[in-house]
Amino acid sequence: MALTLYDTMAREKRVFEPADPARVTFYACGPTVYNFAHIGNARAFVVFDLLYRMLRRRYGAGHVVYARNITDIDDKIIKAARETGEPITAITDKYTRLFHDDMKALGALSPVIEPTATGHIEQMIAMIETLISKGAAYEGDGHVLFAVDNYAGYGKLSGAQRDEMIAGARVEVAPYKKDAADFVLWKPSKDDEPGWASPWGRGRPGWHLECSVMIESELGRTIDIHGGGQDLRFPHHENEIAQSACAHDGAPLARYWVHNGFLRMGTDKMSKSLGNVVLAHDLLADWPGEAIRWALLSAHYRQPLEWTDDVLRQAKRQLDRFYRLLEEVEPADGQEAAPDSVVAALEDDLNTPEAFAALHALRDSASQMTGEARAEAIRRLASAGRLMGFFNTSPQDWFKGAADGGPSAEEIDALLVERAEARAAKDFAKSDQIRDDLAAQGVTIEDGPDGATWRRS
Ligand code: AMP
Ligand code: ZN
Repeated sequence: MALTLYDTMAREKRVFEPADPARVTFYACGPTVYNFAHIGNARAFVVFDLLYRMLRRRYGAGHVVYARNITDIDDKIIKAARETGEPITAITDKYTRLFHDDMKALGALSPVIEPTATGHIEQMIAMIETLISKGAAYEGDGHVLFAVDNYAGYGKLSGAQRDEMIAGARVEVAPYKKDAADFVLWKPSKDDEPGWASPWGRGRPGWHLECSVMIESELGRTIDIHGGGQDLRFPHHENEIAQSACAHDGAPLARYWVHNGFLRMGTDKMSKSLGNVVLAHDLLADWPGEAIRWALLSAHYRQPLEWTDDVLRQAKRQLDRFYRLLEEVEPADGQEAAPDSVVAALEDDLNTPEAFAALHALRDSASQMTGEARAEAIRRLASAGRLMGFFNTSPQDWFKGAADGGPSAEEIDALLVERAEARAAKDFAKSDQIRDDLAAQGVTIEDGPDGATWRRS
């Protein structure tokens, strides 16, 4: 069996062959940390988590370098700092932490590397200098712009036309553009904005440059796979490609480009700018992370996924049915091989609808069996689910989570830890809030000499 992926650049499914199977490199554009992640963002990161798991399975956990960055300098962050009066680092630290909590609850493994934009400013300045020296970028009034006509492949990934390119670049107002489609690599910072010293004055990097530089410094010039949501194809990825190729004598940035489709509310893409967002954080208060993950993977990743409560309810119900079978067997200590039917579906461009169908078929056949054959079938089923990032809870705890929509035992335990930390830090407002939130969901906390315990009322 081979792993195939739909490569946006080639516009077809291709067999995945890494340049070096001992070091498979994969980069996904990460969150801009000024706000909670919505469930559309979560879809992107859950899809890439699944791909990461498939790569680990095939090449070995120690041979896959998955990098997902944190964009911690951005105009939206600066704006949030102004609006809230909080320092920028307080905002980025807080939302990075919350993002991690959400990802963990959704069963997404931590990436191997999580580079930050602010940790790579020096390298960004160096790449801009390289681009200027090669004639691919120019300075104007404290700005540095990338000269788009310098790169013949510009537009090849997305198929963007000239008018879109101009519209795409217009958001970045710069008075000295030679071509309306040129985009910003560096821009000046006002005194009250964060900035770094550079040969072009005090300023900050453009968003697109950040990824090119983090990829170069953390993974190398050409990586195996680059991922992101479809909205990033243009201008973001097009710009990353142009910068990196020009800085690296034409070496391509990525060998495979993988883009996930949109999660929608009705017919609209879920997005902060439309204001139709459902936060992962809010859903996680009401639903087990695995149910949300299941719902997010229920459509093929390149297809749109229409988000409804029903998708989530169904996911929870399906998981209940699986956990009911899992309850019959002792947790497997050894690693059972995941069944071929599920692996084959996932290796076919992450065909999760087929993988779920295969899981259902396995469940149906296991439930017809008896004795050791049945136990064995259930264990194989469990390993297939675990490959996809499910069944990380014991059936006892899963059903302790009981009522549809109530917090799971795991979630309550995690909140108790958070509450204990808040109390230790004398943040009683927070610890009370956690207690009250749980009480509102029918969970009572009882403080005792050995710490807190909980029960459902
Ligand atoms: P952002 O923080 O907006 O840069 O988004 C982080 C990731 O989520 C990117 O890969 C986006 O392409 C992706 N994304 C944003 N909105 C959606 C959506 N509605 N559906 C799927 N992916 C999305
Ligand atoms: Zn990026």
